[in-house]
Amino acid sequence: MDAVGFVPLSGFSGGLKGRSTCCERSDFYGKAVGQAPRAQLPKFRRDGVRREVRMDVDYYNVLGVGRSASEKELKTAYRKMARQYHPDVNQSDGAKEKFQECTRAYEVLSDPQKRKMYDQFGEAGVSGGAGQPGFSDFSDFGGIGDIFETFFGGNAAAAGGGPRRRRSGPSAGEDLRLAVDIDFKKAAFGGEQRITFTHLEGCNTCSGTGVKPGVKPRTCNTCSGNGVVVTVARTPLGSFQQQSTCPECRGTGEIVEEYCGNCGGRGRVQESKQVVITVPAGVDTGSRLRVRGEGDAGLRSGPPGDLYVVLNVKQDSVFKREGQTVYTSLPVSYTDAILGKKLPVMTIDGEVLLAVPAGTQPGRQLRISSKGIPKLGQPTSRGDHIVTIEVKIPTNITAKEKELVLKLAELHEDSQDKGKGFFNPFGKKKAAK
Ligand SMILES: [Zn+2]
Ligand SMILES: [Zn+2]
Repeated sequence: MDAVGFVPLSGFSGGLKGRSTCCERSDFYGKAVGQAPRAQLPKFRRDGVRREVRMDVDYYNVLGVGRSASEKELKTAYRKMARQYHPDVNQSDGAKEKFQECTRAYEVLSDPQKRKMYDQFGEAGVSGGAGQPGFSDFSDFGGIGDIFETFFGGNAAAAGGGPRRRRSGPSAGEDLRLAVDIDFKKAAFGGEQRITFTHLEGCNTCSGTGVKPGVKPRTCNTCSGNGVVVTVARTPLGSFQQQSTCPECRGTGEIVEEYCGNCGGRGRVQESKQVVITVPAGVDTGSRLRVRGEGDAGLRSGPPGDLYVVLNVKQDSVFKREGQTVYTSLPVSYTDAILGKKLPVMTIDGEVLLAVPAGTQPGRQLRISSKGIPKLGQPTSRGDHIVTIEVKIPTNITAKEKELVLKLAELHEDSQDKGKGFFNPFGKKKAAK
């Protein structure tokens, strides 16, 4: 069994100070993004100086998709935009900017992590300044085919020029998500947690190629190994060349006579795995831990995805938790509530003595500072423990006790009457019984 360290997500590694660090929350949804439909407002004059105002870009608008757009819809939308605006095919004014904007939008929205940050915090959540790697210079990109190689693992056909040979480039494995229940104390103080999950691992028999060892794939005759076929459509507006994925080899450019028997040609096999992860102190329900490289294996030597462990903190029979604050209740006898007393209270650190002051009312909350949950990423900073006093009123008392309570009631009312200086007929009547 290997021990796998966790990698803190940007939430608590310090990128976004002051934000909730431990939970995934969707209630920020849309707030930071705002309704700004355009990337840039027109330049305007103030004090005779030209200034440029940049507003948050609505990436969904840029790609013309809804906020709930699936990965596939995003991909389709981006392809469409790229075909329309890529500098290789569109030399008109503004096309390049438009293309860069689309690329940036797609780059963010196609990454589930960045998309979540963007949904919560807008551009600030995904810009370089917030701890995310920036992605600002697009000039390094080559032709449109390279763009597609970059984003789509080499599946796309080129838009300009002749047929472009498809390269079977590596593609990264998928990220996986695993829900894990964790004990109350372990969430508070951290510790090791064994997790069991299944993921796709590269097939050992064929080294992930999917081809039976010893078998050589041959070049596809239909597309001459290009992976794409070109058709020409003649319309009244002119001839249009259209490329589509080769139906014979499904875009690989190769025909495999015999596939690997172990993985059925998929190059990956489902494996069950157990690892021990380190849970940091202060995690809460909804906290995500990333276990690098434990997602599905990549294809054609592509890197594996990550495994995201989503924690659910189990209920405790004694302690209730709200953020960093721990709550318990303390039953106190009515005499102790009246007279005051130091009483033992169980905290997550063990027993402490709590001074219940004289005259404590039922429901009063007493605070024991720094006995709550450690702060995620900063465990020396701890929340408080709040004790709610429950005054126990006896339901069965002895004759002797009753006598004393009656006596007490008489004494008490006398002192009340004296103190306030007015007559209380109801109290007198009851006491005289
Ligand atoms: Zn195989
Ligand atoms: Zn083919």
